[in-house]
Amino acid sequence: MQPHSQNRLVNSDPGPGLLAPDTSGMNFYRADPSLADLLRIHLRDPLFRHIEPYLDRLGSLAGGHLDECARLADRHVPALHQRDRFGADAQWIEYHPAYRELERAAFGEFGIHAMSLRKGIMGWPDKYPVVAKHAFTYLFNQAEFGLGCPINVTDGCAKLLSNFGSEALKAKYLDGLTQTDMNKLTQGGQFMTEKEGGSDVGSLTTTAVQEGDRWRLHGEKWFCSNADAEVVMLLARPQGAGPGTRGVGLFLMPRKLDDGSPNHYRIVRLKDKLGTRSMASGEIKLEGAIAYAVGKLDRGFVQMAEMVNSSRLSNGVKSTALMRRAWHDAMTVAQNRVVFGSRIIDLPLARRQLMKIMLSTEQALSMSFLTADALDRAEAGSQDAAALLRILTPTLKFRATRDARKVCGDALEMRGGIGYIEEFATARLLRDAHLGSIWEGTGNIVAIDALARAIGRHGADAALAADLHARLDDSASVPVAFRDRLRSLTNSAIEFARKVAGNSENEGEARRATSLLYHVASAVAFVWEGARIHEARGDARRLLLSRLVIEHRLSSGNPFRLADDGEQRAITDLLLGERVVGMAEVGEVLTA
Ligand SMILES: Cc1cc2nc3c(=O)[nH]c(=O)nc-3n(C[C@H](O)[C@H](O)[C@H](O)COP(=O)(O)OP(=O)(O)OC[C@H]3O[C@@H](n4cnc5c(N)ncnc54)[C@H](O)[C@@H]3O)c2cc1C
Repeated sequence: MQPHSQNRLVNSDPGPGLLAPDTSGMNFYRADPSLADLLRIHLRDPLFRHIEPYLDRLGSLAGGHLDECARLADRHVPALHQRDRFGADAQWIEYHPAYRELERAAFGEFGIHAMSLRKGIMGWPDKYPVVAKHAFTYLFNQAEFGLGCPINVTDGCAKLLSNFGSEALKAKYLDGLTQTDMNKLTQGGQFMTEKEGGSDVGSLTTTAVQEGDRWRLHGEKWFCSNADAEVVMLLARPQGAGPGTRGVGLFLMPRKLDDGSPNHYRIVRLKDKLGTRSMASGEIKLEGAIAYAVGKLDRGFVQMAEMVNSSRLSNGVKSTALMRRAWHDAMTVAQNRVVFGSRIIDLPLARRQLMKIMLSTEQALSMSFLTADALDRAEAGSQDAAALLRILTPTLKFRATRDARKVCGDALEMRGGIGYIEEFATARLLRDAHLGSIWEGTGNIVAIDALARAIGRHGADAALAADLHARLDDSASVPVAFRDRLRSLTNSAIEFARKVAGNSENEGEARRATSLLYHVASAVAFVWEGARIHEARGDARRLLLSRLVIEHRLSSGNPFRLADDGEQRAITDLLLGERVVGMAEVGEVLTA
């Protein structure tokens, strides 16, 4: 969690009044020891050693060339054209070359969209676990968040197709969706939202009429990111089907028909968005578009929910990426800018702000990998992991995406006035951060999902409680008194969540209950990870983050007590310093 000094941009003698540098030239992998620590815990050693040079390269690109491409692509937004240069009606979207360069890196060089679906990417003989894939998602999105959506939906479309599609559909479309050859790649899209409802998917009005072995779609999709995707998964109501989500089917809609002519739908216009401006989101009219049913017709919503859930995890990871980027920026400023004769990092109040940024970022990183690991284990057949995943996914999506808004705003402020100026990445980070909590389920929707559905309907709280207690049992090097404190907080958070989930009149508390689950889970994760990192390289500092979660996220406390006491200052000094700290010293702080 501490910066590697050799990679941190420290201006040795900035001189009074000199503006701080930004993160240009930083290697986002090398500057992030927490990432390597957590990957070593979650991945088998040969796999970690195989991907490390690729992570190092992506970390360097994300802090340099790709970041510059992202800046350009954000300023030169996509444009929708209605005709080709000969005057024939042909819709196409023009992208800045910088966006194409970002695509080439993500889809072509690293193959992030296909890592968990296709063997052989980056020379690895097998498919990658989701944990490994999201390490790449995390680094890439520190440079570019807009393209993060097409990468993720292409991955999601291929997954849906391979899980539920007929052999004929798979033979036709799966290879293109998982290609890393840019000439053969066909990107994916996921069009669900209609004017009638994004959250209330059951109210959609797009209809599907059968015509032999295919269907004709009529209606309008209101938010279509990656609007010119070649392969789209969407929901529509087959003619005669009942109301609500039970009545909707899942369809695959190709952009081009077999003879190469455009399918029968039109991009009406592109959205003028606050963030993710590099990527084209459009409104689309379906005018008899040809589509193919995927899986069971009356299970469309349930099948699509798989894609939504994997997108929610991806959103959590991407919001973590924004926070990490914001942290790098804030630290670069704090270490270089001199105000009132001191570096910002030496001022007590600024140190406290930095700790807030660090804590939310590290919580999200731990929760992202905990959730990705649950997905990997669930896919390997573990029922317990499937139940855990059911509750961790909306919990991560809820809190990490909300924290990203605040963290990116706080990092912007650390840079002062020029943080607000679009020449610096901080403004773009803040704009992008506001999307995470909206798409794939707004805050209210995912909090209700965590409480009413995951706990109320599926009883996933038992899996969460069992997992957190097992992690505490499995951290024997950590003082018992501290682990007991966390056990008791875990039980309280789960009990409160059960109370909220058990009575619809308590729905107004769903957000608070979800936040509490997130905080206890991250505090336990810090202990479990801290014990392992200490064992591996003698540094126990990650455990201190657990103490901070308890103090600042799980205690209401006395508002009139001086919170910034010596103990808090000591924790801050240890976490912002570079000294390796052993278990004895950390243990004293934990149990003080
Ligand atoms: C940039 C961008 C790109 C997008 N890309 C896509 C895409 O590619 N594909 C796609 O399908 N969609 C996409 N979306 C749409 C997005 O998923 C929806 O906007 C989102 O799900 C919310 O739906 P809505 O806009 O209809 O809002 P509504 O559902 O009308 O929600 C409005 C408010 O009501 C609240 N609310 C709703 N139900 C409840 C409830 N039961 N209890 C309490 N509060 C509730 C919500 O939390 C929200 O605050 C995109 C959106 C954006 C902004």
